[in-house]
Amino acid sequence: QIVITDVHKEYGDLHVLKGVNLEIQPSTVTVILGPSGSGKSTLLRMINQLETITGGEIDVDGEMIGYKPVQRGGQTVLQTLSDKEVARQRAHIGMVFQKFNLFPHMTVLENIIEAPVHVAGMKKEQALAEARTYLEMVGLSDRANHYPSQLSGGQQQRVAIARAIAMHPDIMLFDEPTSALDPELVGEVLSVMRKLADDGMTMVVVTHEIGFAREVADQIVFMDGGVVVESGTADIVDHPQTERFQEFLKAVL
Ligand code: ATP
Ligand code: MG
Repeated sequence: QIVITDVHKEYGDLHVLKGVNLEIQPSTVTVILGPSGSGKSTLLRMINQLETITGGEIDVDGEMIGYKPVQRGGQTVLQTLSDKEVARQRAHIGMVFQKFNLFPHMTVLENIIEAPVHVAGMKKEQALAEARTYLEMVGLSDRANHYPSQLSGGQQQRVAIARAIAMHPDIMLFDEPTSALDPELVGEVLSVMRKLADDGMTMVVVTHEIGFAREVADQIVFMDGGVVVESGTADIVDHPQTERFQEFLKAVL
């Protein structure tokens, strides 16, 4: 479970997130919609601690991320977590980006076992065995020994998903995972994501794929100008309440 409470982000004078409130329940899919610059990526990056929080707080499974409250001179102050503690928190969260960021000099299998073996300390045999099951799940068993450059964009993105799953995350964050793909390759990536959702993965997905949102999302969140403007179940895309959401849907549909 993720609880986002009055979260702010400022880059110098630029106020990017202006008090975001959001709850994400376990084993649900939340789709975040919103125009360019509305703060969607920033919010995802903050959940994964790729950006610091400048106001408010984010709790993951009941634990504040990035900071811990400590007593100092009779007062409770927030202390920044150590790198090690941050790494422990981040280990629960997998992230998939628009650009697949696979290691170009490693095969598909090597890409998938890299973090399990070198970060999580898993035995290589076990990591390989698991990697093969994830490759099967994303439909790429026959590409295990290929290099990323030998794969289509859709295949590379499916490898990126398998690589994230290999770390056994409790939560998966997707930032426009299909935006860099040719239209005919979008479906194969969405269907892997649908499978993950069916398996009960907790997912937060930034996407412009309204069809996917309508079918798969338990919760849809529309952001604009650094705040959540509307949120609700999937049918809010059929009954947008605000003019801003109506305009947005008109533009993307
Ligand atoms: P898009 O749909 O184009 O990906 P987005 O909703 O993901 O947009 P963000 O990437 O979160 O938007 O950016 C929100 C705002 O924050 C934008 O105005 C952007 O220019 C600004 N911004 C993002 N990262 C930084 C940074 N590192 N330094 C300064 N400003 C930033
Ligand atoms: Mg973005």
